[in-house]
Amino acid sequence: MVSVGIDIGSTATKAVVFDGKIVGQSLVATGWDPKEAGHKAFQEALNNADIAENRIRHIVGTGYGRISLPIFTNRVTEITCHARGAFHLHPGTRTVIDIGGQDCKVISLNPDGSIADFIMNDKCAAGTGRFLQVMAGILDITLDELGTLAVEAEPVPISSMCTVFAESEVIGLLARGIGKGSIAAGIIDTIAHRIQGLAGRVPLEETVSFTGGLAQNSSICGKIGTSLGASLYVPQSPQFVGALGAALIGSEL
Ligand code: ADP
Repeated sequence: MVSVGIDIGSTATKAVVFDGKIVGQSLVATGWDPKEAGHKAFQEALNNADIAENRIRHIVGTGYGRISLPIFTNRVTEITCHARGAFHLHPGTRTVIDIGGQDCKVISLNPDGSIADFIMNDKCAAGTGRFLQVMAGILDITLDELGTLAVEAEPVPISSMCTVFAESEVIGLLARGIGKGSIAAGIIDTIAHRIQGLAGRVPLEETVSFTGGLAQNSSICGKIGTSLGASLYVPQSPQFVGALGAALIGSEL
């Protein structure tokens, strides 16, 4: 039987259809209606998989919007789903770093993949996708451009972790004629610094898997790896790892 995992995140809703392997997936913007986003991602992923709805045994929901969808047969926390997905993709994983739209977390795993400990920042946008989106908006560039510009640029220090203060600081740097590349590199350094601070509070063992939307940016992957002194394993579709974990949990129920 087929299982589906749906991760209704703060920014993006991801769905994975699992039938022994991933047979379909979909990503839609969560927007203001997480319920609608969940339904849309579900239908799109089913269409991609070309699977009839009556073949599905479990639909497992995760992410901040998991309470909003009545079709879920089970609901599981993002911590459990990211750990499950990352361990499936790289069985040697002992640490998972996940950075999404509004939170970042570091999850420490036992050798069998069970959760040993975790730390999460969900009260403040510092070091998250929201922080990065605001900064890219001020620089008037895309997230990919921000990553590209940061490569080989000398980072200018950005002292504020708080998104609101950092915004003013970046506007001030632009006014002083500091190049966008240096500012972009400084912004990514700030994110890496934030993760380093979180990671210092749980046991950090290799292999470290990096998941979530920000793991799609090679500059961010590079800086975080360097600041942690670890080589990171980045899955092919890092943003789908939570939804995959949910689908895997569904397939084992
Ligand atoms: P959530 O589950 O909270 O919605 P995701 O793990 O889906 O979070 O990640 C969404 C975040 O990833 C958004 O804030 C988005 O800005 C960011 N993101 C997407 N693509 C990139 C990219 N290429 N570089 C950096 N950040 C990215």
